[in-house]
Amino acid sequence: MEKKPFVTLEQLKEIEKTYPTPFHIYDEKGFMENARKVSEAFSWNKGFREYFAVKAEPNPFIIKKLKEAGCGVDCSSYTELMIADKLGFRNDEIMFSSNETPAGEFKYCNDLGGIINLDDITMIDYMEAECGIPETVSCRYNPGGVFEVCNGIMDNPGDAKYGMTPEQIVEAFKILKAKGVKNFGIHAFLASNTVTNEYYPMLARTIFELAVKLEKETGADIKFINLSGGVGIPYRPDQEPNDIMAIGEGVRKVYEEILKPEGMDDIAIYTEMGRFMMGPYGALVTKAVHEKHIYKEYIGVDACAVNLMRPAMYGAYHHITVMGKEDQPKDHVYDVVGSLCENNDKFAVDRELPKIDMGDFIYIHDTGAHGFSMGYNYNGRLRSAELLLKEDGSVEMIRRAETPADYFATFDFSDIMK
Ligand SMILES: *Cc1c(COP(=O)(O)O)cnc(C)c1O
Repeated sequence: MEKKPFVTLEQLKEIEKTYPTPFHIYDEKGFMENARKVSEAFSWNKGFREYFAVKAEPNPFIIKKLKEAGCGVDCSSYTELMIADKLGFRNDEIMFSSNETPAGEFKYCNDLGGIINLDDITMIDYMEAECGIPETVSCRYNPGGVFEVCNGIMDNPGDAKYGMTPEQIVEAFKILKAKGVKNFGIHAFLASNTVTNEYYPMLARTIFELAVKLEKETGADIKFINLSGGVGIPYRPDQEPNDIMAIGEGVRKVYEEILKPEGMDDIAIYTEMGRFMMGPYGALVTKAVHEKHIYKEYIGVDACAVNLMRPAMYGAYHHITVMGKEDQPKDHVYDVVGSLCENNDKFAVDRELPKIDMGDFIYIHDTGAHGFSMGYNYNGRLRSAELLLKEDGSVEMIRRAETPADYFATFDFSDIMK
């Protein structure tokens, strides 16, 4: 299935008059409808809440919208907590899933009443020293080994730095209970960008079985189970998208099977999705500005890896549409590249595309999560603006583009760059 941009060429020509390329643009209608669907998929569970993973798209304008759709926030750093704070998130609307947590962050979370999700047993003392023992604490689980579904290995938790071993999490619950914790949560994130409806139900089975064991062995009162992120999106046109209704239903079945017979059917289900909430609803819009014909055919664009790092970092595929040429034959093979002095600065390698002319809009799909947010400033390149295509069709700037003054702002203690 060909992937369709959520803006037209005519809209982009109009937008460009005010906001020059490159920019990330987000589809409000798309992500709000999706957020409502997520709530619906888990509406069978009374306490359900999606905590949007702020790191996926840390833009307060977007997060404010998701708050209106009923989402909480999943933060993992001080500045992410500041966004939550400014937007008025409090108490159980904030999940703090950090690891190797720097000083001051547990305290800030606790001051906002947020829920601390401990990554490690050694963090109990660290947390206690900083902010005492909260009434509600969550612990992150890592079963080790490989995480498999019927069609193969999904990921390798045994190699991941996160979470506690089965023995440690039992011990952590006992210690926390003895220290006065009243409400417990369990969290696990065992596979990333899964494009199968089986991931959450499989993960739920693992955590639900652990929850039964933990209640039996420690007497802890488990109030919520956090399935975290990892629900993926079809970056490639031939991938079948996840069906969130089927996923919600799959989790419900396992809940009925494992928790209900134990009388544990008051447990709330939480999720911390980032990619699934925003990924498909963002795009990086850039323009072809140079062409080069050497051993391969290159198209140089006005964006580069600082605007979207995933292809350079993971060799990730991002689909490309050459705007206005959707119906033309893909009879050219290009590397679509940015200007960094790094040869991995390629949005596409050996990609079959229609003939690209200078000035064509190049629409890079699925940049709504882990796109802008992974930006950096290598080669002195600057981060782009972010725009919101609103439900009424108008466009709002929700972050301005960086200027050289931003790049040099950290020399403001001196006159050297004045
Ligand atoms: C990154 C992350 C998420 C979001 O992951 P997605 O794959 O974007 O859904 C959720 N929880 C934690 C703790 C994370 O680190």
